[in-house]
This record gives sequence, structure tokens and C-alpha cells, in this order.
Amino acid sequence: MKYCRMEVDGRPEWGLVEERAGALWITSRLSSPWETGSAEPLGEPLLLSQARLLAPVTPSKILCVGRNYRDHAKELGNEVPAEPLLFFKPPSSLLGDGGVVRMPRVSERIDYEGELAVVIGRRLRNFTADQDVSTCIHGLTVANDVTARDLQKKDGQWTRAKGFDTFCPVGPVVDTSVTADAIAAGLLVETRLNSELRQHGSTADFIFSLPQLLAYITAAITLEPGDLLLTGTPAGVGPVSAGDIVEVTVAGVGTLRNTFTAEEN
Ligand code: ZN
Repeated sequence: MKYCRMEVDGRPEWGLVEERAGALWITSRLSSPWETGSAEPLGEPLLLSQARLLAPVTPSKILCVGRNYRDHAKELGNEVPAEPLLFFKPPSSLLGDGGVVRMPRVSERIDYEGELAVVIGRRLRNFTADQDVSTCIHGLTVANDVTARDLQKKDGQWTRAKGFDTFCPVGPVVDTSVTADAIAAGLLVETRLNSELRQHGSTADFIFSLPQLLAYITAAITLEPGDLLLTGTPAGVGPVSAGDIVEVTVAGVGTLRNTFTAEEN
């Protein structure tokens, strides 16, 4: 199943997304994406591309992994980490597909980072890597871990550099059908800047697998259903300019498209 979250008459609604004749349509309203029996068909199906999309997640927290692809760690001159490197993005940084990322004036270098994101399916505490990871996943989506690279270096802590409002575009949909095995086997993660391919990686190249990440995280932090995990970015990160369009694609899950604009005075 694929679902989205959209604004209808100023209110957020969940929508069931179905493919018809090669296009994605919102065909039903869902009272909750956690109750599959809650679909109520729309009078007129709506093209996904014409909906006012919100991020299709409502996490209590957004956990992120830095440097989880060898070639990306190297491109920024960093060592391959011995343990997962964790940070948070605040839920206030969420933005939907089609939304505009505001580039803060205090930064002179803002980068895209295309990533696979995992929606957590159940409360997780002290998960061990030998447990069945498939029951931990509600679904998969696509994220752009927008980063003020200069502030990341300047601050030491990453909170501000990763946490500006609009710095966490997610969507357009959550796909609940892709399995943990598919992540391990390798999902293609690609980023295009103004239609030009800039990142091309596979989740098969994770330094730390999803079970290893969940074990490491939940030894410290309880994950709740609906929490979001950004799994790291492959090589090819780079800066954006005002007016740029960034598209992140995770094969089989979707393409997330956002424009960037300079913050107004
Ligand atoms: Zn990242």
C-alpha cells in the first residue's frame, strides 16, 4: 500500500495512493494509515501530483545517521566511522513533496543529501540485530537531509545546520510493501539537481545495516511507531542555489521533488 498526507480545506488528511494507467492517484481518504480498513473512497480521484502534499509522517522524533556510505564519508574527508553516527532533525523541519526549502541567510553553503527513510512500525527498545527487522518497519519513504554545510563545521554540534525549518523534505508517499530484505539487497538512491544526476548509490552499500542501526539506536533511545529514521546519504552531495530543483528517488518507493528559495528579509 502507498499513502500520502495532504491538505484539504486547510486540514491534514491521509490519502490512499493507487497507480492507474501509469499515474499515481489519491483514491480514498484514510482515517489513519495504521488502520488499513479505514479507507473511504473519494468521489473524484485526485492526481497525486495535483494534491497539496504534506510530509506523509508525523514522527515524535527524526533520527538520522551520518556517514553510512563509505564513498560519502571519504568525499568529505572523514574516516569511516567505527560506530553509527547519530543526530536528530526536529519535526518542525518537515516539508512535503513540492514544498519550498527556505535557504537561511546565515548560511553560505546549503547541500542536498538524498536518503532512504524508514517509518518505524512499533515501539522499539533494546532491539537486537538477530530479531526480525521486518516487524519493525511500517513503511519506506524518501527524504532530503538538507544541511547548512558551513554551519555544520562551524557549530560542531549539527542541530542548527540540519534543523532549520523546511530542512527535512519527505515524501511524496509512504510505501508499506517494500521489505527489509529489499533494503539489504539494495534499493537505488538517486538525486538529481536541476535534472542532472548527482547521487547514485545503493542501500546494499550501507556501512551499518538497518538491523545494526536499530540495535544501536534503541540501546539508547526508545523508538515509537511513526518515528522516522534517515539512513544516510551516498556520495555526490553538493550545494544548491536559489531557484534550484532537487529530486530524490528511491527505486520502487517514489521521487521527492522540492525547490529552493532564498530566505526573504
Ligand atoms: Zn544525511
